[in-house]
Amino acid sequence: MPTYLSHLKSKLPQTGTTIFTIMSGLANEVGAINLSQGFPDFLCDEKLIKLVEQFMRKGLNQYAPMPGIVPLRERIAEKTESLYKTKYNPDTEITITAGGTEAIYAAITSVISEGDEVIIFEPAYDCYAPSIELNKGVPIYVELQPPDYLIDWQAVKKLISQRTKMIMINSPHNPTGTVLSANDLKQLESITQNSDILILSDEVYEHIIFDGRQHQSVLASPQLAERSFVVFSFGKTYHNTGWKMGYCLAPAELMKEFRKAHQFIVFSANTPIQYAFAEMMKEPAHYLGLKDFYQQKRDAFNALIKETPLALKPASGSYFQCVSYDSFTDEKDYDFAVRLTREAGVAAIPVSAFYHHSNDYKMLRFCFAKENETLEKAAERLMEFFKKESR
Ligand code: GLN
Repeated sequence: MPTYLSHLKSKLPQTGTTIFTIMSGLANEVGAINLSQGFPDFLCDEKLIKLVEQFMRKGLNQYAPMPGIVPLRERIAEKTESLYKTKYNPDTEITITAGGTEAIYAAITSVISEGDEVIIFEPAYDCYAPSIELNKGVPIYVELQPPDYLIDWQAVKKLISQRTKMIMINSPHNPTGTVLSANDLKQLESITQNSDILILSDEVYEHIIFDGRQHQSVLASPQLAERSFVVFSFGKTYHNTGWKMGYCLAPAELMKEFRKAHQFIVFSANTPIQYAFAEMMKEPAHYLGLKDFYQQKRDAFNALIKETPLALKPASGSYFQCVSYDSFTDEKDYDFAVRLTREAGVAAIPVSAFYHHSNDYKMLRFCFAKENETLEKAAERLMEFFKKESR
């Protein structure tokens, strides 16, 4: 054994392989319907594919400018102004990233140093804590309780210290599907005013929000926006998560630091795809219709699994539906997710994966960004499984 191995100290000793890789891997291995990792199983708009091809054939295959191509940043500025009534300067305040995950990592890396505390809410998307830890920051966890997962802002206030550098929020929320209210943002305003605390707002599901609710973006609050990195995702909005394309908005001074990190993480994002999105964004109808498109899928899936012992948690946004199964079994959620994948042929994510102590509330997360036919097949398999089990 080379000597360096005995001296090698993991920078993330508690971190294993992400649950999305594990569950998708198992689903593929056993041929299960994959409702675990969040991605659509249908094609994105044909027009988008043609546009990418056109731009590739035009020769737009070399590095994009580090912050992203100008026309795409301009379209984003227009969209931001029209939806959230706030102006972001495409030159200095908008950067195109290689997906939301890169944007989150670049934002954290650009401002978090050793010992800086970052408040995150659990269940938390699984890249948050490791991104903080790789920068020697300290995640400070606030646990949200099912079924509502409401934030107790008084409890948050108590956790604020001299070392608090950032608060991370996520709405619509992955994995729970809850959304922040206008009052939540008011509370956040009052906690951060007169402080140096920064905000990282993960809003990748901004357009997927149900039952007539409005997405509460930090962009709509000047007081929050002036201290925020706000992260968005083309993959979620245009049904192509594998294209790994997103963007980040932040005031110029923060964005200057963000770009210092971004340029050495990926340098720049995929060129022809940026040109294609710049064209697509001229038609807001696509993203404005997303809420109805996904609400129909949520309702269809929920109706289909109504007769199973899976109890639906209210889902107000994102393309995830959480269900609790504690009336059926007290198996650990990870074990039950694996058994459902193997025996029912339907894969889900155990929600304990989103807690640093793997809290087990007997909750699974299903992704309903699927063809209706896929959802029907999955529901049939689940019905069959529970019928067999109850015999
Ligand atoms: N965002 C996706 C989800 O929550 C997973 C993305 C990934 O696998 N990194 O399922």
